[in-house]
Amino acid sequence: MTGRSVIVGAGIAGAMTALALQEDCVLVCAGALGSLSSSRLAQGGVAAAIGPGDDAAQHLNDTLAAGDGLCDAAAAGAILSQAPAAVARLESLGVRFDRGPDGAHALGLEAAHGQNRILHVAGDGTGADIMRALTQALRRAAHVTIIEHAELVRLHVREGRIAGVLLRRPSGPLTLATGRLVLATGGVGGLFPATTNPLGNTGRGLALAARAGALIRDAEFVQFHPTALDCTLDPLPLVSEAVRGEGAVLIDDAGMRFMSGIAGRELAPRDVVARAIQRRIAAGARVFLDARPALGRHFATRFPGIDALCRAQGIDPAQEPIPVRPAAHYHMGGIAVDAEGRSSLPGLWAVGEVAATGLHGANRLASNSLLEGAVCGPRVAASLERAAREAPPAPAHTELPPPDPALPQVRAILGRALMLEREGGALAGAVLHLRRLAPRSDAAAAALMIAAGALARRESRGAHCRTDYPATLPAASTLSTYAQAMGSAEADPLALSA
Ligand SMILES: Cc1cc2nc3c(=O)[nH]c(=O)nc-3n(C[C@H](O)[C@H](O)[C@H](O)COP(=O)(O)OP(=O)(O)OC[C@H]3O[C@@H](n4cnc5c(N)ncnc54)[C@H](O)[C@@H]3O)c2cc1C
Repeated sequence: MTGRSVIVGAGIAGAMTALALQEDCVLVCAGALGSLSSSRLAQGGVAAAIGPGDDAAQHLNDTLAAGDGLCDAAAAGAILSQAPAAVARLESLGVRFDRGPDGAHALGLEAAHGQNRILHVAGDGTGADIMRALTQALRRAAHVTIIEHAELVRLHVREGRIAGVLLRRPSGPLTLATGRLVLATGGVGGLFPATTNPLGNTGRGLALAARAGALIRDAEFVQFHPTALDCTLDPLPLVSEAVRGEGAVLIDDAGMRFMSGIAGRELAPRDVVARAIQRRIAAGARVFLDARPALGRHFATRFPGIDALCRAQGIDPAQEPIPVRPAAHYHMGGIAVDAEGRSSLPGLWAVGEVAATGLHGANRLASNSLLEGAVCGPRVAASLERAAREAPPAPAHTELPPPDPALPQVRAILGRALMLEREGGALAGAVLHLRRLAPRSDAAAAALMIAAGALARRESRGAHCRTDYPATLPAASTLSTYAQAMGSAEADPLALSA
């Protein structure tokens, strides 16, 4: 396997990269193929401007508006214009997007989209069907060697280039030598006390890339989904934005429709809705999503998966309002990459939620992320094929680090300082605490990148809201390094060399 491209992560981004490659590669994932990914949980769907009266320019306008000044318009336009081709590619791989009686795609509406442009499968089963189809395609793909139940724990870097990876498997360590590594490890929701993400999505890929010297872009921007189901499960089940798209309204326990005076109401940008809900909760209220007037007994037909999630918690959405609260959901920031997915570290590519392409800016437009994985995976594959195929010598260092001890502490720190509303004093305390934990904890290192970015960004924009700096400054993306976040120019001892 030495010298082949290695792709770590088998959600939509890693799977689409591996499937598009025309040469042998290795695909690594933490659990069984198709499991433990945000991709599998996605309900709402895939955004694509394919309906009558819609086009890529309108999709781009909505994306830029949601991104609140921090999108890279050229990068975003290039990705969004590929949406119809990505949808066709997914269908050719076996994804069965819902269609209406006339045979045309059924297109849903989500917050901050000016048009109905959300393709879905079985109502709210989009991610599950995509991962079913991609997993089957991967099992058939002779060029993909799949290593399941293998956790990436270290990057090997030699003379400033990627030289390989160290994996933890149930049978022990495994080292793969490669000069072409793709991180497709997903988001950071597992670092927060309330999240919709699989709990294993703790930003390990981001942390390892940062430790190895890769530039990280706008790490402070974390999107909170306004309507996770308010229950005791961890992670929290999601009640998709598409439910509000179908007309469900937000009320508090006094029955007040508190979004009615806010522009966009229930379909305002996610950060606006999430903060409005959080403020009601902070004021002592409970918040509910009432789908009875809009959907009533049709709820179970339109949203069978969400209906089942609610019923498992003793709630019948046709008869009663659904209790909801915000939860960490999506990371807009990430490993800074160019149009081919190349990071600043030679030999390292990143794709999907772990990467920052410039599509999402300060706030992701709903359903643009599955699309990003589907479009950018094949681009990364083409870039890998163009890159030099040097086979570095096998890295000598194979000692596994101990399991990360600090995750519960990290979740508590972020719960205090890095939620929907942030303040300088709490952020400074979080940074100091995380700096002490980061040398022994990748969770703390990922959290430190978020906290240090949030402390440095003295403005409010998109998903980043500073109570002490409510104004918005002239728009500027930030590229940062792990050494800067640690407050030191020294290299990190865990950024291993071979
Ligand atoms: C509940 C929910 C609903 C969503 N709904 C939508 C939606 O409707 N539309 C939309 O566009 N987006 C949606 N999103 C966001 C979207 O699902 C994700 O942004 C997208 O799926 C990310 O894909 P990915 O391939 O980058 O990461 P993931 O799908 O999260 O995959 C990450 C992969 O990396 C692996 N991994 C992680 N760390 C390691 C490690 N250290 N070692 C080895 N493997 C590792 C994981 O096991 C997994 O295989 C939703 C997210 C959630 C959580």
